Amino acid sequence: MSMQNPVFIPGPTNMPEVLRKAVDMPTLDHRSSTFATILNPALAGVAKVLKTEAGKIFVFPSTGTGGWETAITNTLSPGDKILVARNGMFSHRWIDMCQRHGLDVQVIETPWGEGLPADLYEEALRADSGHQIKAVLATHNETATGVVSDIAAVRGAIDAAGHPALFLVDGVSSIGSMDFRMDAWGVDIAVTGSQKGFMLPAGLAIVGVSPKAHAAMDAAKLHRTFFDLRDMEKGYLVNGFPYTPPVGLLNGLSMACDMLLDEGLENVFARHRRIADGVRAAVGAWGLKLCAKKPEWASDTVSAIRTPEGFNATDIVTHAADQYGMAFGVGLGEVAGKVFRIGHLGQLSDALALSGLATVEMAMADLGLNIELGSGVAAAQAVYRHGKNGAKKAAA
Ligand SMILES: *Cc1c(COP(=O)(O)O)cnc(C)c1O
Repeated sequence: MSMQNPVFIPGPTNMPEVLRKAVDMPTLDHRSSTFATILNPALAGVAKVLKTEAGKIFVFPSTGTGGWETAITNTLSPGDKILVARNGMFSHRWIDMCQRHGLDVQVIETPWGEGLPADLYEEALRADSGHQIKAVLATHNETATGVVSDIAAVRGAIDAAGHPALFLVDGVSSIGSMDFRMDAWGVDIAVTGSQKGFMLPAGLAIVGVSPKAHAAMDAAKLHRTFFDLRDMEKGYLVNGFPYTPPVGLLNGLSMACDMLLDEGLENVFARHRRIADGVRAAVGAWGLKLCAKKPEWASDTVSAIRTPEGFNATDIVTHAADQYGMAFGVGLGEVAGKVFRIGHLGQLSDALALSGLATVEMAMADLGLNIELGSGVAAAQAVYRHGKNGAKKAAA
């Protein structure tokens, strides 16, 4: 693997130089007042990125997976019923975690490649007239299949059923890259990590907690110690942590929020949309199909691309790594060997995206797929030349 090339895996993402420097800090006493000048801006910045004013932000030394565990263990008790749809490997893993914690998990099986079925959520919630379901779980962006779902529609389903369940949302591969509105969508716990849209190394679980989720904390009986929000909250009251915080990563998080907010969240989302549109145009030019079955489900942060029957899609990833020093994502779970993934989130530009498309074209042609060199690149160039920001670029 070449250290010169950008990565095209859907996390960890490419790190901007300024964030690498922000993470690289001398040792600092985390019980000093200086720590507060790092922690508090990071928490305030995350709130803006999540679009929450009502919610409280908590950051743990962990990863997105720890964020899942934080969300369920602080709000639920053993045997509690929850409702969740499975449409890929990440929703599957969250379900698996819930089962291992002894929750009673009602799963809406959804074909991989499809978005979350708001109508089936609503049906299940309406059927639960006794309100046994304590939480509704949803994965905003299924990173395994490159499928984004309509979280507002799932919220709508909960409201239409008049159901009081908490709404816990995995936004690990969407937050900071695609529109996410914690308050407007009535999300009770939003979960993410540091190494995707925030463009940092892995190492932080980042969660936003609504007042309603906060109120559920004391009654929740699932075991928790490291991820107990109550301990973290006590720490924050005195500008500290219940244990040793990863100061450099928190400094990076504060800077990452500044970067996203300085670019403007809507501009960040538009950039991701434009880059993704170019990738999708390339996929069409190659004569290949996305795993996402409908255009409205196609994610702006990752494209999972189906290869022809009988071809092992993982070979593309291995070949691109070995021969061209460039990283792409393999298929996971049900779609292992059937898709390869191009991650296009975080610190990416049109030009970097073109380098990934050019490289994966070479890899596919080398392996005997019927790909005309330059065809995908040309299709993406057409998008980038006349992209949504075209007018702005020309004026600049
Ligand atoms: C990456 C990812 C996770 C897992 O996050 P880790 O930081 O690897 O623990 C969970 N959900 C989604 C949607 C992801 O993309």
